[in-house]
Amino acid sequence: MFKKILVANRGEIAVRIIRACKELGVETVAIYSEMDKDSLHVHLADEAICIGPAISSKSYLNINNIISAAKITKAEAIHPGYGFLSENIKFASICETHGIKLIGPREEHISKMGNKSEARRTMIEAGVPVVPGSEYATNKAEEAIKIAEKIGLPVMIKAASGGGGRGMRLVYKREEFINMFNMAKAEATAAFDDDSMYIEKYIEGPRHIEFQILADEHGRVIHLGERDCSLQRRNQKVLEEAPCTIISDSMRKEMGEMAVKAAKAVDYVSAGTIEFLLDKFGNYYFIEMNTRIQVEHPVTELITGMDLIKWQIRIACGEKLDVNQEDINVNGHAIECRINAEDINNNFAPSPGNIEDYLVPGGNGIRIDTHIYSGYKIPSTYDSMIGKLIAWGRDRGEAIARLQRALDEFIITGVNTNIDFHCQILCNDKFVENQIDTSFIEKEMMK
Ligand code: ADP
Ligand code: ADP
Ligand code: MG
Repeated sequence: MFKKILVANRGEIAVRIIRACKELGVETVAIYSEMDKDSLHVHLADEAICIGPAISSKSYLNINNIISAAKITKAEAIHPGYGFLSENIKFASICETHGIKLIGPREEHISKMGNKSEARRTMIEAGVPVVPGSEYATNKAEEAIKIAEKIGLPVMIKAASGGGGRGMRLVYKREEFINMFNMAKAEATAAFDDDSMYIEKYIEGPRHIEFQILADEHGRVIHLGERDCSLQRRNQKVLEEAPCTIISDSMRKEMGEMAVKAAKAVDYVSAGTIEFLLDKFGNYYFIEMNTRIQVEHPVTELITGMDLIKWQIRIACGEKLDVNQEDINVNGHAIECRINAEDINNNFAPSPGNIEDYLVPGGNGIRIDTHIYSGYKIPSTYDSMIGKLIAWGRDRGEAIARLQRALDEFIITGVNTNIDFHCQILCNDKFVENQIDTSFIEKEMMK
């Protein structure tokens, strides 16, 4: 096992990783920006090093400073969490040059799967179904419109380097295409410093179903079942659950095997997620692979009993997975609400500021992953997600009931949050009956 790990992230995921390290008896180094000096991850880690000013490009994305911090503290490995440098090829390569183990995918995995247009090609070759769409990426609107016409509108314009729902536009009409393409391209350039775009057929009212993968360095690849992440706002997940109760066992088996095949096609190692869209007719299509831990990993942990962060660390150490596919049993149902500091009455605008009263729910079946506390100041510089509330129940109904009562107990004052919004979702009849798809929030909650 590693002696010391540097955690190259902030917020709830940094706290989550430090907790896993403590349970494994591994020392931790936190990095933080000047803005985050009072953040919980800084207090919980054994050591902490300031790596730059608030702005991410000079701190959490500052590769030189992060590598120096690892060298100074003699950390043998770095856990990148999600977002920031977690899918950055340059970072993966520099870690390797310096003999620092990156707890995540290798450079070649990111290069094969990180570019979403490349990943489509890799999957087609491996025999995994993908959404009908373009064969290569382009930054030219005239070229893209020809591809769109061949596929047939409506289409999704997507950024090859996209993530977090950004750099994506839905186009219904030909005359809107050029404008939408340029808007998506500008957003992609600003967010990912890459203007290459690709086109996919728009799948009407699908479910987002993703499979959690674990792969060790010894060739064993297993999946830990699926998550239904259909509840999204602007293509960004809001609430996730596991398992998906509308798919049959045979469908689960088939999609799970497809996900394992996808991971094997790139000799994948570590935790990863294969995302699919499932249409109304039961067809499923690969959309992307996330070569990192995901925000919603706790729902899988609660139904399988597997600690995904600990497994990422163990796998990075060269340990063998000690379970086979047949050993993975799903027990009960779990649902996660992403708690954001945002104003639901003002178009979900971020709501940074000082947390005054803070009372967290507890009791049977409740888990909270967060970095906030009473008196904590939520900065405006970073993502507005301030934590996750996750409930486990013997079945979906019990998980919903527990979440409802936990949301009722949850008190956060001083900033606006989406807690009420989650309450509204959980008591919506269609949600309770599991009649959901990716347009649920837009159609049911925004009217
Ligand atoms: P998940 O499936 O884990 O929810 P998301 O796509 O929502 O993944 O991204 C998780 C976090 O990482 C979000 O905070 C998002 O803003 C951020 N993120 C995702 N992709 C990128 C990227 N390419 N660059 C920077 N941040 C990203
Ligand atoms: P990101 O990298 O931002 O997570 P994804 O490719 O995973 O982007 O897509 C995010 C979400 O956008 C999906 O879960 C789905 O709701 C929607 N989406 C993406 N592609 C399509 C498509 N071709 N048709 C319909 N919806 C789509
Ligand atoms: Mg995605």
